[in-house]
Amino acid sequence: MPGTAPARTVLIAGAGIAGPALAYWLRERGFEPTVAERAPALRTGGWAIDVRGAATEVAARMGLAGAVRAAAVETRSISLVAPDGRRGARLGAGALSPSGRDVELLRTDLARLLHGASADGTEYLFGTAVTGVEDLGDRVRADFDTAPPREFDLVVGADGLHSPVRSAVFGPEERHSRFLGAYLSVFTMENHLRLDREVLLYNTPGMLAALRGEDPDERAYAILAMRSGEGEPVRHRDAGAQRAALHERFAGTGWEVPAILEGLDRSGDLYFDSATQIRMDRWSRGRVVLLGDAGYCPSPLSGQGSSLALVGAYVLAGELAEAGGDHRRAFAGYEAEMRGFVRRNQKIAQAGMDFLLPATRTGLRVRSLGMRAAAGLPALARFSSKMDRASTAIALKEYPGAPRRAAG
Ligand SMILES: Cc1cc2nc3c(=O)[nH]c(=O)nc-3n(C[C@H](O)[C@H](O)[C@H](O)COP(=O)(O)OP(=O)(O)OC[C@H]3O[C@@H](n4cnc5c(N)ncnc54)[C@H](O)[C@@H]3O)c2cc1C
Repeated sequence: MPGTAPARTVLIAGAGIAGPALAYWLRERGFEPTVAERAPALRTGGWAIDVRGAATEVAARMGLAGAVRAAAVETRSISLVAPDGRRGARLGAGALSPSGRDVELLRTDLARLLHGASADGTEYLFGTAVTGVEDLGDRVRADFDTAPPREFDLVVGADGLHSPVRSAVFGPEERHSRFLGAYLSVFTMENHLRLDREVLLYNTPGMLAALRGEDPDERAYAILAMRSGEGEPVRHRDAGAQRAALHERFAGTGWEVPAILEGLDRSGDLYFDSATQIRMDRWSRGRVVLLGDAGYCPSPLSGQGSSLALVGAYVLAGELAEAGGDHRRAFAGYEAEMRGFVRRNQKIAQAGMDFLLPATRTGLRVRSLGMRAAAGLPALARFSSKMDRASTAIALKEYPGAPRRAAG
């Protein structure tokens, strides 16, 4: 009878954070992963991202605890700045991780570590986009832009917020996406302020310009973010339109914004996307399943995208192993384990929006007062303890396949 043979070969679309993490775990559990990535090499760029709560445990079970900690960014302070550059309210190191367990590292570094950990035993196809998938009942046929079609037992869409696999199998993005009303861009530029392990935030109502410097002699990371109504969409793969939209909104704002806009024009690593969540009733259909942002993007405003991807990868591979490769049972188990965890973490985005992009002058004053009330830090403390609770809101099962234990 077709469809009863246990799954072995798995195509993963996307070598971001979720894809390589899943490849690692599938290989550990005895499956044969192939990862197809549209970009010609691992994509770099992006701000520092968080590995929090249960995701730190997943990293440890991958044997990456030491490497992740070694790559952690050391932020000495986060300060609000006035238009003339004067530092205002300031948060010291660790303010966003009261537990001290969570790690913040550059996205590029996390992607590199996950790729390195999974490379041995995984077939990586860079410069190869998945352009279509067809469930044949007992196999799935995948089409690629630069390679002939191939068949796999299962296909996983780990291809990000704008997942082509999701569109092919579950219909157009608009059906599943919820725009939260903001756009966010990240790029590197000259560290002209010679910032040293420091983050500066400059806000006007509904807008944020930020700079992060790790080392005065290295490039700085810049953020330009803006609230925006539904009526003015910016296309996610049109860097020219994205730069134009940022120039239009940020022209004439104070502080270092003119220098940041110059940096934007020269940057070769612009990451720009909408703050959008993906909410779906189910993450699988037949032999195709979604992982990470493709299935349940919480948006960068939640700070939890990478943690959901890491935990999702661990659970999906584990459930496949526990079900002996029976994808129906495994996908049901994956959904059952992950649903509540995803829901809790998606809820955080609104608090992130209020903290990073206050909409009004009053909102800006309230945040500044909150940051100044050093001991109480009301807004921030509420935000970080919410994150703390959400990021640990899953009990990680032990799965068959005896993963290697953490070294560091
Ligand atoms: C360059 C970059 C920078 C980012 N910077 C930030 C940041 O600063 N802050 C933040 O909160 N989040 C950022 N993100 C998003 C963050 O990485 C994710 O929210 C989170 O880590 C979940 O990861 P993911 O693997 O599900 O998705 P992603 O990290 O988005 O990875 C998806 C991958 O799929 C690939 N892909 C897409 N379509 C196809 C296809 N058809 N075939 C094959 N491959 C495909 C993409 O090229 C990408 O490498 C960034 C993402 C990228 C790609």
